[in-house]
Amino acid sequence: MSGWPDLIPQFPWLADIRGRYAANQPLSEVTWFRVGGPAQLVYQPADEADLALFLKNLPRDIRLTVIGLGSNLLIRDGGLDGVVIRLGAKGFGNIEILENHRLRVGTALPDVKVATAAAEAGIDGLTFYRGIPGGIGGALYMNAGCYGTETRERMVELRAVTREGEIVTLTNADMGYHYRKSKGPRGAVFTSAVYQGFPGDKDDILNRMREITEKRESSQPTRAKTGGSTFKNPEGHSSWRLIDEAGGRGLTFGGAQMSELHANFLLNLGEADAFDVETLGEMVRQRVRAKHGIELKWEIRRMGHFAPGREVREFMDGEPFTGAV
Ligand SMILES: Cc1cc2nc3c(=O)[nH]c(=O)nc-3n(C[C@H](O)[C@H](O)[C@H](O)COP(=O)(O)OP(=O)(O)OC[C@H]3O[C@@H](n4cnc5c(N)ncnc54)[C@H](O)[C@@H]3O)c2cc1C
Repeated sequence: MSGWPDLIPQFPWLADIRGRYAANQPLSEVTWFRVGGPAQLVYQPADEADLALFLKNLPRDIRLTVIGLGSNLLIRDGGLDGVVIRLGAKGFGNIEILENHRLRVGTALPDVKVATAAAEAGIDGLTFYRGIPGGIGGALYMNAGCYGTETRERMVELRAVTREGEIVTLTNADMGYHYRKSKGPRGAVFTSAVYQGFPGDKDDILNRMREITEKRESSQPTRAKTGGSTFKNPEGHSSWRLIDEAGGRGLTFGGAQMSELHANFLLNLGEADAFDVETLGEMVRQRVRAKHGIELKWEIRRMGHFAPGREVREFMDGEPFTGAV
């Protein structure tokens, strides 16, 4: 796709917006996979009030997508129409230590910074965030977790700006959390969250965080162009094992490969595009279905349009898969 029509001249109200915006911005640089086409308009709000004003004005028929640190995203080669919102540390990177072992944190912060700040304040319970490379906004949306703890067990409430531009507080229950998913209001942009920890010894917490780092580096391709675990674990199974048994470990397509180190990690070896990555994922789903009769579900969030003539077929059979954008 050569480029989207420029939305900026259609939105005269942008003159009142204090944040930054730009048309036709490449997204491959902002995802861990390093693939994906352009966004029609990228907007980085100055702060929560600026974001609310923007969303109040944005026509309802314009698609809205929020991108965090891009560590769980596969953006297709045709890119994203509408507006892509990215929150920056300037307006959304605050950490406040509250009473009773609580913290209020901005959603643009990387999880690891929050884990470290909690440790420094003698707050335990957030060490698991040391192992997750994304940001707080993505963690709240995905209910990110590892080593037996999930975001939903620590998050008390969050602030969000709704698609209509209202600033709201959502409780943990409002988020309808499940394994690697949430059911909060559609189109809401999370801006900050309060977490509940418990008392701990700073050195002990920092030691456990170091252990997590070592464990990760020996078992996962943490420095690769990847999106982390590709498929959710089906009830009672590990996806990596199902993939391994179906001959998926090390499998390649175009410039993409299923990791040799961790069979549930998809990798861009350097020259892959989103088509290669998604097609390999569907090849693996096909193999696992044929071998085990189990249909793996994507954990990685796929979004955007296929490049013309490069549609991916679900399970590699039937008609081209048009996919949810
Ligand atoms: C090497 C590696 C290891 C990983 N290990 C784990 C793991 O152990 N456990 C785990 O759970 N995940 C893991 N992941 C996946 C990923 O890091 C998490 O899902 C993370 O929480 C995503 O955060 P992000 O900021 O990168 O979000 P993105 O990938 O940018 O977005 C993910 C989703 O969150 C939404 N979103 C992001 N920010 C906001 C916001 N402010 N408001 C509303 N919606 C928002 C996006 O629209 C999208 O739907 C791993 C990934 C990699 C690359």
